[in-house]
Amino acid sequence: MTSASGALGDSDLTEEQQDFARALRDYCERECGPERLKELTSGFDDLHNDDVARQMAELGWYGVAIEEAYGGSGGGLLEACVFLEETARGEAPIGAYPVTLIVAGALARFGTEAQKRRLLGHVAGGGALAIAMSEPEAGSDVGALSTRAERSNGEWVLNGAKMWCSYAHKASEILIVCRSERGESKHEGLSMVLVPRESDGLTVTPIETLGGKETNELHLEDCHAPEDALLGEPGAGWTQLMAGLNYERVILAASALGLAQRAFDEALAYAKERKQFGRPIGSFQATQHKLADLATELVQARMLVRSVARTIDSAPERMLPREASMAKLACTELAKRCAIEGVQIMGGYGYATEYPMERYLRAAVVTTIFGGTSEIQKNIIAKTLGL
Ligand SMILES: Cc1cc2nc3c(=O)[nH]c(=O)nc-3n(C[C@H](O)[C@H](O)[C@H](O)COP(=O)(O)OP(=O)(O)OC[C@H]3O[C@@H](n4cnc5c(N)ncnc54)[C@H](O)[C@@H]3O)c2cc1C
Repeated sequence: MTSASGALGDSDLTEEQQDFARALRDYCERECGPERLKELTSGFDDLHNDDVARQMAELGWYGVAIEEAYGGSGGGLLEACVFLEETARGEAPIGAYPVTLIVAGALARFGTEAQKRRLLGHVAGGGALAIAMSEPEAGSDVGALSTRAERSNGEWVLNGAKMWCSYAHKASEILIVCRSERGESKHEGLSMVLVPRESDGLTVTPIETLGGKETNELHLEDCHAPEDALLGEPGAGWTQLMAGLNYERVILAASALGLAQRAFDEALAYAKERKQFGRPIGSFQATQHKLADLATELVQARMLVRSVARTIDSAPERMLPREASMAKLACTELAKRCAIEGVQIMGGYGYATEYPMERYLRAAVVTTIFGGTSEIQKNIIAKTLGL
């Protein structure tokens, strides 16, 4: 069933896209086997390795969805989905990539020529970027954020605190969503400012999580950024965020799908090998039905993500709140289900750190939280149903 066989789920891709997927699978099998991965990630703790990112950039893959004019390969969101799914499935240690691509999307939409040259080129070369929206008091209700940016002597001066800024510790610049003007509603007066990670007045503090070194708190204390660090229009931050939601949700969905597929692959292989009562546990109908259900849902999820990605590629301006939320909801919930069923299928070995399934479970748990929780995705879907 696996997409490695190219049997289900890949047949809707062009020959070129299928070759791309195969090349990624080969790379991951060759370069990211369990022992090598342990080395590359300092014992599975640091899930972004700059050397691997650079190597993928040299192969022309990292800039898959970046315009050729800025050093990329000029692909669309669909190609990015193939890359995200296959690298997540192959456990390539490029954890900063999804969030980097989210910021690259905002740059492509709203960046000045100079910003695009500097930062999209940096991404195509294997670099990382981060985005800081969430705050201690503004999570699901992100419009309630209170970090301030004031203009003073031709500069922006930022003050406030941000939570959960993924891979800020790897990023050269962080896109800070902040309040620059007073508005009548909480969604007015927001702006986006690009702040170099090494700026004076910006402190990046890691947060310990189930997933290892992935996310950070930021403190901004009279942190200065030049006037041209503004991304897009002053006060238009909320509209700009909304314009990127389709893109962001599909990116997170495709990554979660790769993780789901990996957990499934491991569980399937184990079910064929492990014998109890003199026969493989995969010969018990209870195990077969679990795997059959997951296999079906994987194909459904893949078709959904790719269909949304294709629609976005053909009509980038179109808002698809329902479909993008459905893709994020379906893939992330499926990643969690594949990992939890994977643990069950592997019994005690699924729970042991000697095997990778418990890692997949830890990685899957957060996917239904970041980028808008499953409850928030359901709220959005329900709203589009007139509820
Ligand atoms: C590992 C990790 C990485 C992250 N990376 C980033 C990042 O790079 N940049 C960034 O800006 N943010 C990032 N986030 C933040 C993430 O987007 C938020 O955690 C998420 O939006 C939820 O906010 P919260 O944690 O404050 O939970 P809360 O908003 O407090 O929600 C708590 C619970 O209440 C529920 N809830 C809240 N409101 C409603 C509602 N209206 N209806 C139904 N249920 C509701 C939620 O679904 C959840 O179950 C990251 C988070 C994590 C954990």
